[in-house]
Amino acid sequence: GILIFILFISCATAFALVKYLNKNATPAETLRRAITNGEIVPFYQPVVNGREGTLCGVEVLARWKHPRSGYIPPALFIPLAEKSDLIIPLTQSLMRQVVTHMNVIAHRLPEGFHIGINVSAAHIASPDFVAECLKFKHSFNHPALNLVIEVTEREPLDVDEDLVQRLNTLHENGFVIALDDFGTGYSGLSYLQDLHIDYIKIDQSFVARVNAEQDSTRILDCVLDLARKLSLSIVAEGVETKEQLDYLNQNNITFLQGYYFYKPVNFQDLIKILLSKPKVKVAVNDPTTPKDD
Ligand code: C2E
Ligand code: MG
Ligand code: MG
Ligand code: MG
Repeated sequence: GILIFILFISCATAFALVKYLNKNATPAETLRRAITNGEIVPFYQPVVNGREGTLCGVEVLARWKHPRSGYIPPALFIPLAEKSDLIIPLTQSLMRQVVTHMNVIAHRLPEGFHIGINVSAAHIASPDFVAECLKFKHSFNHPALNLVIEVTEREPLDVDEDLVQRLNTLHENGFVIALDDFGTGYSGLSYLQDLHIDYIKIDQSFVARVNAEQDSTRILDCVLDLARKLSLSIVAEGVETKEQLDYLNQNNITFLQGYYFYKPVNFQDLIKILLSKPKVKVAVNDPTTPKDD
């Protein structure tokens, strides 16, 4: 009896201690531990080709699978990771998991399937970035995947000779370079002049404004026009409604991402999606593409 009591007391003390330590850990320490424990996991949001009615790729989106709080969205921890150097181990951990996942389903992925990884400016500037990306690419069993580097810019990109060189090297090694959240934040036209960019992702805030009201699409129209004149391919993100889809179709935007099609899902659900018939609503303008509903 007494032994069990002592055991109970020591367990309770240990538990209280762990709780106490956790409480006193800085947010960065807590995040560091989460990365080490494998709590930062990749979710996948499909990107669809609205013209061909196919699923053409996925974007990898980080989630913190917290033991008590459930899934924590990236807005709550990516900025912290960017301020510390944790964005590097965080992204490396995601890359490793993505490779493991994609190698499991390699036989299911069509040739040219896109896998987009969000990378932060601070990470690109780190000394081993290019080597890490090349290692990432060589870890896939699938011979013909398109790895997309989505350059995000919550922090200003320092467009110098070095950055240009890095992105060029990646491009020469078969990477696709995308400029994320185009039209917001620090994204400036000068990027498009100096960097090799394969496509831009139109920020969802512009797509969200497509509604019945007149003039709601003026900025979107300008952004689309700009992209076309610069011969950049376009992915529209945040497509939520039929109305938005129709508008993008009318404007010949082929690549689409948004809740209208799929939300970001975990790996198990991605497998289900890949096994099922893609839920893609095809372009309204094109009578040759099969309708699926
Ligand atoms: P992002 O790269 O622009 O990713 C698109 C965001 O829009 C995702 O939010 C996605 O869940 C959300 N989204 C997609 N479709 C819709 C839609 O139809 N409606 C609405 N309202 N939202 C939609 P999420 O996953 O919360 O990620 C937010 C941002 O966090 C990402 O924006 C990206 O900038 C950043 N992020 C996520 N994962 C990573 C990562 O691994 N590394 C870095 N550096 N940044 C990341
Ligand atoms: Mg992105
Ligand atoms: Mg984006
Ligand atoms: Mg965005």
